[in-house]
Amino acid sequence: MPKKNIFKEKVENLKAEGIFRKLNILEGPNEAIETVNGGQYVINLCSNNYLGFANHPRLKKVAIEAIEKYGVGAGAVRTINGNTILHEELDKKIAQFKHEEAAHHFQSGLTCNSGAIQAISEEGDLILSDELNHASIIDGSRLSKADRKVYKTCNMQHLEEMLKMHRKNYKNVFIISDGVFSMDGNIAPLPEIVALAEQYECLTYIDDAHGSGVLGKNGRGTVDHFGLHGKVDLIVGTLSKAIGSIGGYIAGSKNMYEWLNHRARTVLFSTALPPASVACSIEAIKMLQESSEYTEKLWENARFFQNKLKENGFDIGKTQTPITPIQIGDEAKTMEFGKKLFQEGIYASPIIFPTVQKGTGRIRCMVSATHTKEQLEEVIRILNKVRDNS
Ligand SMILES: *Cc1c(COP(=O)(O)O)cnc(C)c1O
Repeated sequence: MPKKNIFKEKVENLKAEGIFRKLNILEGPNEAIETVNGGQYVINLCSNNYLGFANHPRLKKVAIEAIEKYGVGAGAVRTINGNTILHEELDKKIAQFKHEEAAHHFQSGLTCNSGAIQAISEEGDLILSDELNHASIIDGSRLSKADRKVYKTCNMQHLEEMLKMHRKNYKNVFIISDGVFSMDGNIAPLPEIVALAEQYECLTYIDDAHGSGVLGKNGRGTVDHFGLHGKVDLIVGTLSKAIGSIGGYIAGSKNMYEWLNHRARTVLFSTALPPASVACSIEAIKMLQESSEYTEKLWENARFFQNKLKENGFDIGKTQTPITPIQIGDEAKTMEFGKKLFQEGIYASPIIFPTVQKGTGRIRCMVSATHTKEQLEEVIRILNKVRDNS
């Protein structure tokens, strides 16, 4: 009997709806200029490699040294036999960088949220989640036995209404929000969230994946940006974006660290990170601590690019960070715009429904510290050209 092909119809439906896509193939490292798909030369405006650390010589060197010393794989989960000196050092380094008592790292930001949220919450608790929170927060909340409710994005009035109505019915209440929202580039209203959490005796859980290495002193993140050290209970971040390596982490109290060691399923049941990746993350945090040159260059480029866009009449929405969403609107138009940009050598991602609301399609440009002014000017020139011809 032939194998059942349950996917054929699904894939055909994707094609019929016009949302089927093929992956682009990079032929070298993630850089400001890349070759893709058999030799096409493009300016890369869609990676999270904010600081250029993903291919930094200093980080490549420590990765190679770590492989020589510790091998290529950790060999076990952290709680059994996969916890090297490097893994221990990384936790301490993150805690120090974040000004927190302790930190626990995971294999990725996704496995951090999917493991930690379930572990810290239980039946009788409530999770209040921003409607635009990252998918991994949604997944983690679904795995939790706590009840879940969603508030309108960054809408503190709505959040307070929910607290007024529901706080009394629950033991612990967790307010969970992204620090920076990845599709619009706006920053969560942390001071207000913290004030509400204090007033209604809730815990705060802030996922700062796009804020770490970007906002605050030397890239310490959104909590530092607002001067709220010691006021946020649980701070999540990723080592896969600005830090340039891979991994995720949660920073908070020593007791939190111990609890996650016993209860976070992604710590207990998934192998520890490869030593080379861990070594890179440690070194990358050292680089941030030693110098603000990387984050300063990132912001200089972001300001330069965003000002030029505004001067040229492009609408970049409500961004407050290097994430630059050029508003187009219509879904088909956005896809077409993205395709034309790509043909002209600009690799920037068109983002449409269901990732964002219907009619709010946009070309999301991610500026990095390693773009040159000439490259960014070239992008503006081509953006104008594509707009004028469409
Ligand atoms: C990217 C992202 C993650 C996932 O991080 P990975 O390390 O890539 O798994 C989690 N949360 C938020 C808010 C993110 O933007």
